[in-house]
Order: sequence, then C-alpha cells, then structure tokens
Amino acid sequence: MKKLALHWKIIIGMILGIIFGFIMNSVGGKNFVSDWISPFGTIFINLLKLIAVPLILASLIKGISDLKNISKIKAMGLRTISIYISTTLVAIIIGLSIVNMVKPGEGMPEATIEKIKTKYASAEGVSDKLAKASQHKESGPLQPLVDIFPSNIFKALGEAKMLQVIFFALFVGICLLLISEEKARPLVKFFDSLNEVVMKMVDLIMLFAPYAVFALMANVIIAFDDTEILLKLLNYALCVVGGLILMIGFYLILVSVYTKKSPLWFLKQISPAQLLAFSTSSSAATLPVTMERVEEHLGVDKEVSGFVLPVGATVNMDGTSLYQGIAAVFIMQVIWPDGLTFMNQLTIIATALLASIGSAAVPSAGMVMLVIVLESIGFPAELLPIGLALIFAVDRPLDMCRTVVNVTGDATVSMMVAKSLGKLHDPKPKEWDDNYEKV
Ligand code: ASP
Repeated sequence: MKKLALHWKIIIGMILGIIFGFIMNSVGGKNFVSDWISPFGTIFINLLKLIAVPLILASLIKGISDLKNISKIKAMGLRTISIYISTTLVAIIIGLSIVNMVKPGEGMPEATIEKIKTKYASAEGVSDKLAKASQHKESGPLQPLVDIFPSNIFKALGEAKMLQVIFFALFVGICLLLISEEKARPLVKFFDSLNEVVMKMVDLIMLFAPYAVFALMANVIIAFDDTEILLKLLNYALCVVGGLILMIGFYLILVSVYTKKSPLWFLKQISPAQLLAFSTSSSAATLPVTMERVEEHLGVDKEVSGFVLPVGATVNMDGTSLYQGIAAVFIMQVIWPDGLTFMNQLTIIATALLASIGSAAVPSAGMVMLVIVLESIGFPAELLPIGLALIFAVDRPLDMCRTVVNVTGDATVSMMVAKSLGKLHDPKPKEWDDNYEKV
C-alpha cells in the first residue's frame, strides 16, 4: 500500500466507500454511516479548511514580495481575469449547445413531474436554496465589489472570506516591496516559513485522504433513495456530465498548446486534487491540495499560484456555469417552454457568468445561484420550487462532477498565466511517499 501512488489510494478508498454505502443502504445501516463513518469525512474537510486561509496568506505575501516588480502584479491580475472570463464563456456556450441539441427536458411524462413535485418541491433542500438566493438578491449591484475590501482583517480571516484575505495579502505583499529590503526581510522570512509549514500540513493531511474519501463517499451513497426518479433524470444528468467532460478536454488542449506540456502528465499530477474535489464537492476545501499540486507537481511559481488559485476557487467556476446553463434550459423545457427564446438564452450567458463568480465554493452553491439565473429571464416565481425540485435528486452527484471541472479550470489557468510570465518551471520530482517516510 505504501508504494501505491496517492491517486490510486484515493480511488480505492472511494470505490470501497461506494460499495460500503450501498451495502449499508440495503441492510438499513444509514444511521451507522452518519453517526460513525461520516464524521471522519467532516474532520478531513475541517482540516483542509483550517489550513486554506494561512496558506493563501503565506504563499501570496511571500510570492508577491519575491516578484520585486509591481507591474508584473498588474499583468498577472489582468491575464488571470481575462482567461477566467473566457473559459467560463466557453463553458456556458458548451452547456447551452448540448442542452439545445439533446433537449433532455422534452417529453417528460406528467406523472413523473407530479411525483418529483410532491416529493421535493417543499423539501428542506429546495426551500433552503430559495431562501439563500433571496438573501443574495437583497444586496445592491456593487455589493460584491464592496465585499472584497475587509474592514477587519481578523474577521476576514476568521470567516475565511477568500477575496478579502487575497486583497489583504496583496496589499501587504506590495507594501513589502515598497519598503527597504532590510525592514521587509523579517516579515518575508516569517511568511516563507509559515508557507513551508502549511505545505507540510497538506502532506500530512493527505495521508488521511484515502480513509476520508471512504467516509465521504459512503455518506453520499446513503442519501440516494429513489432510483426511479434518478433514471428519469438520466438524460439531463448525462448532458451535464458530457459537457463537463468536453470542458476537461478543452483544458487539456489549452495545456498542451499553450504550455507545451503533456495533457496526460497534467492529469496525473492534478488528479489527487480532482479526486478530492469530487469527494468533497467544494473547491474551497480542495484549495490547499490544489495549491500543493500546482506548485510542487506542475511547477507553477508561488506568486502565480498564490494569486490565481484562491481567486479562481472563488470566482472561476466553469463547471458550475456550464451546469447552470443546462439546468436552466432543462427546467424551461419541462415546465416553462414559453421561456425558451433566443434572447433568454443570451441573458443566461451573461447571468450564468456572473452567477458563477458569485457562487460560493461550497457544496450546492451552484443551485442557489441558478435561482438568480432563472429570475433574470423572468421565470415565474411560483414555478421556482418545482424547477429546483426537478433537478434536486441528481444535484449532489452533478455537484461532485462540476467541482472537479472548477478545480481543473483553476489549475489550467494558473499554468497558462505562469507560462506567460515565465514562471512555469520543471517541478522537482517529489512523491507523497517520500513525505510518508519522513513523518
Ligand atoms: N460545489 C461547487 C464548488 O465548490 C460549487 C457549485 O457548483 O455548487 O466549486
């Protein structure tokens, strides 16, 4: 087991977790899983979240102070944002093309719609999303901009407000460049050392990953209850998964054409982060591992990954926007065919882009923002609960898949930005098992 590469260990943990979940489902052991197994998954996610904020702070401050050139920061910021917006637009267009070609929502039997409505329209999961979406709507149009600037850094750190932490880290990093080297040195050394410590923490936490994904997957499986409804939604789910696979293909093309690296090599290096994104459904929880993989296994310099990845985890969600495009049109095909106009689909492109920026990097955030996308095209308010109910049963597995794409997209863009700034190197070979030996 020691010699096996980390991604294989995680895959084995996942498969065993799925099998265990099904067995527990059939012998009535759901409570056993939620009481005795699932907490280990939660501990793992907590540990990852624990180190995310110190990691962003340390790697960005250290990285920026290494850049020694403020104009490079501007170039990095502009490139990152423009590539992020472009890849998200590609994702939405792929999503809309697929759903319009396959039309998974057409011809769904009335009886199925009725069944889904009775079962989920007033379910807690659905009403909770609607409530969150209306909270979101109440803030003014410039609120997301205001939210980037913290008034209290300890609050920002405590509440893990990623963009606020990034802003603070950039601010500190830039000021370190503006003061004399002698005065800056102690703080730079402090963050450098903190960065090393947190990276080591990622290594140690990852030793636990194969067991944690076992717990996480078993917990996902026990939530499946109605296979009949799942089968009825299969076409829709396959559209989303097909679109996500195309998106991964697009990233691989970008990696090979732009950075001249082998796509297979890229996939192998990033796979532990993808597997965790799949099991946790959260780009934020996966961030420390994404950063570790990108810096140490893909060869991206810290100043690039320290900026591009945390910003990406927060604002770049290609998988989520692709899903939102497909889900919105699917819902219209089923219950509001009048809304299927060209203009509405154009509006979806704009709002899904904004919605993916506004979605939190946590499980099922994409579904909350889908409400905003639907509202932007005048979707009748009374149909909203039914609309969400329609996609609710398959949302978790789709969330797992779209989070993989969100994380892969961030890693791809960080390589492209690094390449364009001459900050992409050949990584020093480093195996997780080496760390294991050192522990
Ligand atoms: N779970 C996704 C993420 O964390 C967001 C979403 O689409 O719900 O990236």
